[in-house]
Amino acid sequence: MSDRSEHIVVVGAGAAGLMAARELARAGKRVTILEARDRCGGRIHPLPAAQFGYAADGGAEFVHGEAPVTRALLHEAGLSLQAIEGTQRSFDGTKLLREIHHDPHEAELHAALNDLKDDLTVADFLRRHFAADEYARMRHSIRRMVEGYDAADPERASTLALREEWMNGGHGMQARIVGGYGALVAFLAAECRGHGVAIRFGAVVSAIEAGRGAVVRCTGGEVFACDDVILTVPLPLLREIALPEAVREKASAADDIGFGNVVKILLRFTRPWWRDGAADLDDLTFLLSDETIPVWWTQRPAEHPVLTGWFGGPRTAELSGLDAQDLVDAGIDSLAAMFARPRDDIARSVVAAIAANWARDPFARGAYSWATPRTRAAQTILARADGPVLFSGEALYRGRDMGTVEAALASGLETAETILRR
Ligand SMILES: Cc1cc2nc3c(=O)[nH]c(=O)nc-3n(C[C@H](O)[C@H](O)[C@H](O)COP(=O)(O)OP(=O)(O)OC[C@H]3O[C@@H](n4cnc5c(N)ncnc54)[C@H](O)[C@@H]3O)c2cc1C
Repeated sequence: MSDRSEHIVVVGAGAAGLMAARELARAGKRVTILEARDRCGGRIHPLPAAQFGYAADGGAEFVHGEAPVTRALLHEAGLSLQAIEGTQRSFDGTKLLREIHHDPHEAELHAALNDLKDDLTVADFLRRHFAADEYARMRHSIRRMVEGYDAADPERASTLALREEWMNGGHGMQARIVGGYGALVAFLAAECRGHGVAIRFGAVVSAIEAGRGAVVRCTGGEVFACDDVILTVPLPLLREIALPEAVREKASAADDIGFGNVVKILLRFTRPWWRDGAADLDDLTFLLSDETIPVWWTQRPAEHPVLTGWFGGPRTAELSGLDAQDLVDAGIDSLAAMFARPRDDIARSVVAAIAANWARDPFARGAYSWATPRTRAAQTILARADGPVLFSGEALYRGRDMGTVEAALASGLETAETILRR
């Protein structure tokens, strides 16, 4: 076929794969996406609106900070963002408190971070500068953020990579897409198809061979010949695909990139019972605690009677034996403790529930990546376009918010541009 030299296979129909495919197809390339699941989106997991009363997200939910690629796409798609508004609380084991953002040692923390020249792990940084008893609360909240928010292991996580987050006192503006991330995925998938991209579901790639071009093999026996293949699978899945030796060697750089796990639980209730009582929780957004499922949030400013539970980081391994119903039960126990309510009352008011330990998802094996002190060097190796097999996806993003949808979209775009420049 005359267009044989134009063919590019993209492995994975997540944000990175769809973005790369669209750019390549728009530039006239023939593109095939091979996706193991029976849907697009990957770690963006839209749930049916009927289940939770709105287009809920079982995977990615928030748009963090500036996110220029995401915002440009939303603009193109005619979609809008709704900023999160309200009050954050914490539970100290006995009562709900208005979350205090300022630690008395914050200035010392900033000074130590400012002076940092060479990278070291967060745990080493805290041991070196803040080992004394007086810093115990600050150490606790830093570990809680590194584990809970970044899903990272403080013993391996890069202090330099996290410095900007801490220096800004948070993660910038957070918002949700009206219509959920599913609306963005639907737009991208329609764009891909509109430009002639073939999206094959249930296509589990098991091996890639490289020569002048590449040959991609699926577990079902299908074989695809192409000129370039873009691998956007989550990092743990790279180990499950047979790769040519040189590519395998390059892929081993991924060992220097952290990959964290998350447990996410959505509970829909008959009514927003947490607003009853004296605690003035009408505008509750996030609630932080040390319960088994430690973080919860509402859909504020939307009024849906839904609470979302979140547990991130290496300690999620302690829950690896729990199935979805066990996780829902653990979530209800945590809520009962925080709100001092009988667990049966809470359980009885549940209308719909979903829980996922993402480490158990066969095509994710975790939630998202985070930086170690060696990650930037690893990303440079992985991003090298030195053959027909290219790596892309959130873990390759060298900007500030790796591990996000923005990171995946930006990486997909960058990989497509690299191919188009060749
Ligand atoms: C619970 C959870 C909550 C999150 N919350 C947020 C958030 O609020 N905001 C945010 O910005 N980010 C969030 N993230 C992170 C965000 O979802 C990811 O960073 C982003 O979606 C990754 O996109 P990707 O294209 O790189 O990878 P993926 O979305 O994982 O896409 C890769 C695709 O490859 C497929 N695949 C895997 N193996 C194979 C194979 N062998 N053959 C063929 N296909 C294969 C997968 O099925 C998948 O569709 C969250 C992630 C999780 C899990």
